Amino acid sequence: MAGMVIIGAGECGGRAALALRDLGFEGPVTLVGDEPHLPYERPPLSKEAMTAEAPAIKAIASDELFAERSIRHIHSVRAVSIDRAAHQVRLSDGTSLAYDRLLIATGSVPRKLPMAGLGGRCVYLRTFNDALAIRAHLSAGNRVAIIGGGFIGLELAASARKLGAAATVIEAQPRILMRGVPAEIAEIIHKEHEAQGVNILAGQGITGIADDGAEVRITLADGKEIAADLAVIGIGAVPVTALAGEAGLAIDNGIAVDEHLRTADPDIFAAGDCCSFPLVVYGGRRVRLEAWRNAQEQGALAARNMLGADEAHAAVPWFWSDQYGLTLQIAGLSDEGRSTVRRDLDDGAFILFHLAQDGRLVAASGIGPGNAVARDIRLAEMLIAKRASPAPEALGSQTVKLKSLLAA
Ligand code: FAD
Ligand code: NAP
Repeated sequence: MAGMVIIGAGECGGRAALALRDLGFEGPVTLVGDEPHLPYERPPLSKEAMTAEAPAIKAIASDELFAERSIRHIHSVRAVSIDRAAHQVRLSDGTSLAYDRLLIATGSVPRKLPMAGLGGRCVYLRTFNDALAIRAHLSAGNRVAIIGGGFIGLELAASARKLGAAATVIEAQPRILMRGVPAEIAEIIHKEHEAQGVNILAGQGITGIADDGAEVRITLADGKEIAADLAVIGIGAVPVTALAGEAGLAIDNGIAVDEHLRTADPDIFAAGDCCSFPLVVYGGRRVRLEAWRNAQEQGALAARNMLGADEAHAAVPWFWSDQYGLTLQIAGLSDEGRSTVRRDLDDGAFILFHLAQDGRLVAASGIGPGNAVARDIRLAEMLIAKRASPAPEALGSQTVKLKSLLAA
């Protein structure tokens, strides 16, 4: 028996390998990753890894656990091609691995800024090694310019301020977090950043970058110049699909899989940031999610289906972002909504419920200090999964418990 091969030893691949063993699979399990580390969590890279005294990888599993569970982890090696007819994966060290079932969990990589003038002081954040390199510049007296007012940019700006570095965020869109985060919530985050001393320049395109090795100078569309010791570019992520594409598998904003995370090849699955899939809860709308919990859930689901479960992905999307003392949480896809209802909670926290044309609850976006919105977002997620259409007055009223709406 050739067993199971997983390409990509990240959140999704690492979880899938462990899940195969949890499910009782006893044949060979091989996890191939091109990074030199154990599979690790990326969310801390823009947060704790920047601010902790001694940054360390938060590994998903130890070498001992992999050994105990007979999972072979090959690190620092790339999968370079897939021979579907022979059921073989060729690796960058010249060896090949045979598989019965293959999972592609190659994740995503930062979108590159297509501009001349980028040098060693213009960097991206995806890996632990990237985080270490950035961190070395985030100290009092240093200036960091962040291109992109998305999650990487804003979380990094918060970390920079904690460490005393000056931070400027340049966003081409008219406001930060334009995609997926309602304006009312983005405004709270914007104000908190300004209160913490971050200079946010929204609606500002970049016309030039000059990096002379000692300093980066960024020219804005209005002619102003921003000088910095480091420029971090956070303008989105693109799925890693070349391996699948070259093997003849369909690509559609990611490796295209069905609701079982299976490609058109019955022995090849794809999951996590690298794949697009039909989201059952929105009638099969094809999406690609770039979120931690999705990578975990899909890793586990792919493992079940590689073993023949034939289970459809039914989860509601969910993600969070921590900036200063604020936590943002969003369940569902807010762009499915046509109207919103606001529910105020204690300590200035609030949730926006997003309703479809027919009154169905399709998403909920919340913000507040610490864990203030966590419980209600969890309940909203359950209502979304149930395809419930709660009365807007009930959603907006602090005296009506969301739990009671779930029971109804
Ligand atoms: P990845 O974690 O990218 O893993 C894929 C792995 O495959 C990588 O190690 C890659 O090097 C490897 N690989 C690629 N091609 C090959 C090949 N040919 N051969 C071998 N190996 C290969 N999400 C949230 O919900 N909340 C957060 O707060 C949050 N914070 C984040 C902060 C940062 C800085 C980043 C970068 C991401 C954050 N995310 C967050 C997103 C979340 O981490 C990702 O959605 C998740 O890591 C995706 O997991 P994955 O396994 O699909 O991909
Ligand atoms: P992102 O959240 O998509 O944000 C990128 C932002 O940069 C968008 O607002 C984008 O606008 C803007 N932008 C694009 N081109 C630009 C340009 N030329 N100049 C200035 N701004 C530009 O992506 P990200 O912040 O880079 O994050 C990368 C990955 O890490 C994603 O997968 C993300 O999900 C993940 N991540 C997640 C979290 C979290 O969930 N808490 C935290 C950190 C990282 P447009 O919308 O117009 O493209």
